[in-house]
Amino acid sequence: MHISVVVPCFDEAEVLPAFHERLAVVMESLPYSWTVIYVNDGSRDGTLDVMLALQARCSNVAILNLSRNFGKEAAMTAGLDHAAGDAVIVIDADLQDPPELIAELVAAWRRGCDVAYAQRCIREGESWAKRTTASLFYRLMARIGRVSLPVDTGDFRLMSRRAVDSLLKLREQHRFMKGLFAWIGYSQVAVQYNRSPRHAGYSKWNYWKLWNLALEGITSFTVMPLKIATYLGLLVASFAGIYGVTTIIRTLIMGGSVPGYPSLMVVILFLGGTQLMTLGLLGEYLGRVFNEVKGRPLYLVERFVSPRSPAPPPLAATEQKLDGGS
Ligand code: UDP
Ligand code: MG
Repeated sequence: MHISVVVPCFDEAEVLPAFHERLAVVMESLPYSWTVIYVNDGSRDGTLDVMLALQARCSNVAILNLSRNFGKEAAMTAGLDHAAGDAVIVIDADLQDPPELIAELVAAWRRGCDVAYAQRCIREGESWAKRTTASLFYRLMARIGRVSLPVDTGDFRLMSRRAVDSLLKLREQHRFMKGLFAWIGYSQVAVQYNRSPRHAGYSKWNYWKLWNLALEGITSFTVMPLKIATYLGLLVASFAGIYGVTTIIRTLIMGGSVPGYPSLMVVILFLGGTQLMTLGLLGEYLGRVFNEVKGRPLYLVERFVSPRSPAPPPLAATEQKLDGGS
């Protein structure tokens, strides 16, 4: 049995040595061989040099250097593509995901589940606004998306070989990973933990990015907003119809009257606004279709540095996959 750990890294030079130390302790305590793949997602702060130093010191380290910054989703996919383990763990480099939890994830996997994801109970060091918007988003997705995302769950998880293989069949450009993880199905269990603040460095997420991630999540998993647009249009049109009829009747009974400018403006502005909003909505989907249609690769690899310890024999991995996928 071999376990691969995938760590997407963008400007993590400061935390990486501390991270690796804690990870190595945990991995060495497990009765399995292991490899950690550090994916350098176009960092600008010497993260690659730190990785190379770790690779020289520790025989379990592999490095995947992407040609530029492709974003965490692509970096994660790149790492998963290169992971050969019977189980693969995805974890953040900033120590917000405690490596110690890996032991519990592995235990859950040994008990036969395909996906063990880490679920946070407390968010330390995150603002009230971020917690509220995050929880609102999860609830919204659960209501309108076709897959229900587990609440308060990030990318930190363990996946069995067949779960990884299934996930890697989804090659869409707009990778809303939380959604894709849920989409594959299989038996999934949650392992609770407390999320701690970043160890060092800074979060690469700001509200604009988070908003875009939420938009990504919604548009890649449901066409519900398009339906809402249709019904909104229908509603506005019916109101306009009723209003038109009453105006005609009123004019016939009470004679023509000039006033009406304010209501006219209201109707025009409301309709204009609704139309622009709906067009924007269509644009969101159309843009995504455009990006998918181009069919570009998800990431480009500048180089792959394999671990110095010998890789597990591929035959063993195949045999294990045949006897039950774990
Ligand atoms: N990350 C990445 N590429 C990016 C942005 C982030 O590989 O373009 C990595 C980053 O190094 C970290 C993980 O993704 O290991 C999570 O990033 P961050 O801590 O900034 O996000 P947060 O924890 O605030 O959601
Ligand atoms: Mg973080």
